[in-house]
Amino acid sequence: MIAIHQNKVKVIQEKFKVEIENQRDKAIHRLNQLNLKTPVGNDKIYLESVIKLFNSNLDILNWDSTKLLNERNSLGAVPLTPKIRNGKNVLVKSEIKNKILIALGYKGLRSSFYPKYFKEVKIKSCVYCNSQLTISAIKNSKNEYSAKFDVDHYHSKDDYPFLSICLYNLYPACASCNRLKSTHKVEFNLYTTNTSKTIKSDYKFKLECNAKAKYLTTKDSNVIEFGFEEPNYSLGVKTFKEIFHIKGIYQTQLDLIEELIIKSQIYNDSYLKTLNENFNKLKLHPDLFKRALVGNYTEDKDIHKRPMSKLVMDVAKDLGLIQ
Ligand SMILES: [Zn+2]
Repeated sequence: MIAIHQNKVKVIQEKFKVEIENQRDKAIHRLNQLNLKTPVGNDKIYLESVIKLFNSNLDILNWDSTKLLNERNSLGAVPLTPKIRNGKNVLVKSEIKNKILIALGYKGLRSSFYPKYFKEVKIKSCVYCNSQLTISAIKNSKNEYSAKFDVDHYHSKDDYPFLSICLYNLYPACASCNRLKSTHKVEFNLYTTNTSKTIKSDYKFKLECNAKAKYLTTKDSNVIEFGFEEPNYSLGVKTFKEIFHIKGIYQTQLDLIEELIIKSQIYNDSYLKTLNENFNKLKLHPDLFKRALVGNYTEDKDIHKRPMSKLVMDVAKDLGLIQ
């Protein structure tokens, strides 16, 4: 729901420089092995183009958003191959897609590299819905469960497997948003060079103006109504509400809003003054006072640090609990 500055990410990529170079080296090695076993044909032509890209670009895993788009358009999607399905001839994506994904080692990186990399980038919650973490427990071939980092590929790994481990192509997302997005076009860039996009979110939750009064009258959290505002998209692009069912997800979390309404009602000026005085004795950063007060982060720039932070900060501001 908010972008990150590419310069900030570049600093983190520099920290992991050796590991990222190793990922490229291993990928080249495995792609070459795959090439030896691939018979002449469309798959081989495509694979050799991928190998050429990896060989000639030391920075391929650090390509920025513009470069990713250009190279995607230049090399194109995986070749299609004819198949008989339900008695009909259809064109499906060639098997080379899965083989390239395996060669690039995308699956292994989900548990080995991405958790520590995105910890440094400071993303722990889904960049689309902000309602869930980006970790799933997945069973491996030995029937053991391990925590894997979930990422959505901005340029789909189904169509462009050669971009599957490019770091700016990875958008941390919860399992639900990852599944719902599928191949939908989403007009949201997580990585940007536009500083203003990294300070203020283009998305906003809005408490209906009489929501507090209605709740205090009925004492029923189900009567609380809120809205979700999004930026204007290009014609034909679906909204977050449509793709990720934002309203439906947050409709199940009305108790969070209920707690904020109660706080806004009982935390009067004199109580807040006492709290602030006691807080100041701890000599902590002033931002921590607001965070402790509402129980979550309170600035747009921190949305990715914790699930539900966007809803909590927007509603807390609507209620005058924080500025
Ligand atoms: Zn999500």
